[in-house]
Amino acid sequence: MGLTVANLPLRKQLYQSFFWLGYVVFVANAADLDFLPGLIVGDMNRYHHGISHSIGAAMGLAGLVSLIASALRWPVKRIFVVTVLVYLSHLLGDYLGVDRSEPYGAPFLWPISSEYYLSPVQIFHPIEHGDRGAGNASVFADIFSYPNFIAATVEVAIVLPFWLLTLWYSRRRS
Ligand SMILES: [Zn+2]
Repeated sequence: MGLTVANLPLRKQLYQSFFWLGYVVFVANAADLDFLPGLIVGDMNRYHHGISHSIGAAMGLAGLVSLIASALRWPVKRIFVVTVLVYLSHLLGDYLGVDRSEPYGAPFLWPISSEYYLSPVQIFHPIEHGDRGAGNASVFADIFSYPNFIAATVEVAIVLPFWLLTLWYSRRRS
């Protein structure tokens, strides 16, 4: 999903530069860095689906990276747009996916609202990563499980046409 939205502002550049490809993959997954504090305390899900899954976090990261970019004289506007779009694509994916562990959904609109949202119609399979309180070993066993392989395959199959569409559109414009 991150690559799909990044096709639009970056076009060919996305696949010609390790920087952009790596940056897009990083930003697309950045919201799930909220697993890390839980990993340290041995309860990976404890802080998962908190405010890192929000438009506030998307804007915060984009703002921070833009400050660094402007100091380094990198293309600030493009970095800002790519960061916001790619970060939001992760939130959309989580919004549209089945969530089997509490809290259901995420506070996507934080800081405007702290309420948790989940789409009434969920098109992506659940990604198994245990419940709150599950130890790290059992969470990793869940993450690298067959149901997650199927879930990821289904997700790729659903998103692939959209990736092709934005790729075609961006190539046509360039
Ligand atoms: Zn997430």
